[in-house]
Amino acid sequence: RAKGREKGGYVVFDATMREEAILRLELETDLRWAIERGEFQMFYQPIVRLTTGEISGFEALIRWHHPRKGWISPNVFIPVAEETGAIERIGEWALIQSCNQLKSWKKQFPTYPSLKMSVNLSGKQLTQKLSDRVEEILQETGVDGWDLKLEITETALVEDPEGAIAILDRLKALDIQLCIDDFGTGYSSLSYLHRFPVDVLKIDRSFVRQMSHLNDDSEIVRTIVTLAHTLGLDVIAEGIETLDSMHELQILRCKYGQGYFFSEPVNGEAAALLLVQGQVSDLEVS
Ligand code: C2E
Ligand code: MG
Ligand code: MG
Ligand code: MG
Repeated sequence: RAKGREKGGYVVFDATMREEAILRLELETDLRWAIERGEFQMFYQPIVRLTTGEISGFEALIRWHHPRKGWISPNVFIPVAEETGAIERIGEWALIQSCNQLKSWKKQFPTYPSLKMSVNLSGKQLTQKLSDRVEEILQETGVDGWDLKLEITETALVEDPEGAIAILDRLKALDIQLCIDDFGTGYSSLSYLHRFPVDVLKIDRSFVRQMSHLNDDSEIVRTIVTLAHTLGLDVIAEGIETLDSMHELQILRCKYGQGYFFSEPVNGEAAALLLVQGQVSDLEVS
């Protein structure tokens, strides 16, 4: 339960809420030291060209191995880090790691000259100083702006669209590609969508998961693909788990996809093996 029950002006906490509050406090404290203690690791999930099965790039996804609690999902700790402000350093750490990884893969695999790295940004990182920091990190790691994609959730963008546009414009000036993540869940108005300087829509996996021939989710996906094409944007479907949904997306002319059907997020060494193999699967458009 997220909130206490109000009773005559008092909030009554029950045992579960007390446990949750303690857990949260522990996470807040432990997050402060997690970088120095080397508890974070980046995992990488391939983004695949749906016409050929080739790897076009990877999405970098952070993992936290807590010394006592084991693996903790970013869905749990990112919101805590956002509240305490720890997200700023964690986000920079994730970006530096991912850029270093991309740089070393480019050296190791010259057969992938246009390999891209997609990195998630928290809405809390959308501040005036963001573009300066990103520019420094690109310089320090030797990565070209056009090889970096930054993913921002639709929800984060609609909070303050005007402010977001100003910050995104500065990132675009660095040649960085911008993606709207979890598209379809954040209620962005079409008038703003048109003004956000973005390059890619990522269809939220809740629509992709349940896709089957001619059901509602499949219609939503079709609409998003058409919208993207109309606006001249690329489109990536996330959460592809089955051959059926992959075929459905090929038929809808969705260009890129990502999901357990191809590969789960894996560590750097395992991701390099995928690059050695060349493609994650042999896809023929049916
Ligand atoms: P996201 O950016 O939408 O990332 C996609 C999530 O879907 C990832 O969860 C990925 O593991 C999962 N996924 C991929 N394919 C499939 C599939 O076929 N089926 C299912 N069921 N899931 C799939 P993950 O890694 O747990 O990350 C969750 C969220 O945490 C991310 O959602 C992103 O919002 C956030 N996150 C992860 N890493 C970072 C980071 O470095 N910085 C920030 N700010 N947020 C991050
Ligand atoms: Mg993402
Ligand atoms: Mg997403
Ligand atoms: Mg998500």
